[in-house]
Amino acid sequence: MLHVPKSFIVLMAFAVAACGAVSKLPEIDQAVAEEEAQKQREMAIEENEYNTSRAHRIGFKIFIANAELCQKTKFSMGARLAYWREQDDEFIDALKNVYGLKAHAKFIQVPQDSPAWKSGLRKGDEVVAIDGENVPSDGKKVFRWTTKKLSELTKAEKSYTITINRDSAEKIINAAPEKVCDFPIVVNKKDEVNAYADGERILLSVGMMRFTRNDNELALILGHELAHNTMLHVQKGSGNRMAGAVVGALIGALLGVNLTQAGADLGGAVNSQDFEAEADYVGLYYAARAGFDVSDVAKLWRRMAANHPAAIHLAGSTHPSTAKRFVAIEKTWEEIKSKKKTSH
Ligand SMILES: [Zn+2]
Repeated sequence: MLHVPKSFIVLMAFAVAACGAVSKLPEIDQAVAEEEAQKQREMAIEENEYNTSRAHRIGFKIFIANAELCQKTKFSMGARLAYWREQDDEFIDALKNVYGLKAHAKFIQVPQDSPAWKSGLRKGDEVVAIDGENVPSDGKKVFRWTTKKLSELTKAEKSYTITINRDSAEKIINAAPEKVCDFPIVVNKKDEVNAYADGERILLSVGMMRFTRNDNELALILGHELAHNTMLHVQKGSGNRMAGAVVGALIGALLGVNLTQAGADLGGAVNSQDFEAEADYVGLYYAARAGFDVSDVAKLWRRMAANHPAAIHLAGSTHPSTAKRFVAIEKTWEEIKSKKKTSH
């Protein structure tokens, strides 16, 4: 028998008496609740897919357009693949439903103009063979085999073939990966409006994604964080000036003007306010070079100020004032516009 102390029983009785609901609540059918839970799991996957694919679509465009300005690059096709793993839990059925997953891994995102897109891959294509080798028929091995094979071939920096199944017909695709900046974007589910770079990756909150009103504004944020990484703001130190000079020279070369001096000045940034200003400046170039319309994106800082009035300050703090950032980004846009004109 289980020995229960008397005091505990009294306490329990008290708790029940105190907390018992007095209203007559609706009866919940277990099967109906489970059906609703399944619906909600699917919604969670769809929400996650919306944010992940948006960050990827915009980020990849910036990463491929600025590959020559990144000191850390890799080869990539730019497409995203889905399958379920054996260890996945109660979300497996929802995953299969949302993505329509069957026996093979499936491309769930093929951004327009990405290497995958140019090679003829499309969203929904299933991978049945790679370089003539069939995907294993054992379901447990599908995902690991497919992703491993694709990443090995992509890393080797040469073309390969992917046999896909589209609308029950097989098609052979010649995949030709291209060089992109290698700073993966990690989207986290936090509501706070935040993004940062850690030297290796770009970390982006869902709150920040929601705060942006359009893709151009998110491109400003991603360009800014990419600049922190390429300008070695995390590592800082003596390498900084050199990195600035390199980036300045390259931006200049690609716009047909000499920016080496500006780049060297930028690279000499030593404190966090300077780093922020520098990331705003270089990041705007990154976004513009990727084809985003940055003519209006400075407004993001006005909305930021409206939501966080303390950031309007004109002196002190580790972050530059939202007022100064707005003015600086507008000026940078004017500079980009005039350079585009003279380089044509
Ligand atoms: Zn920053």
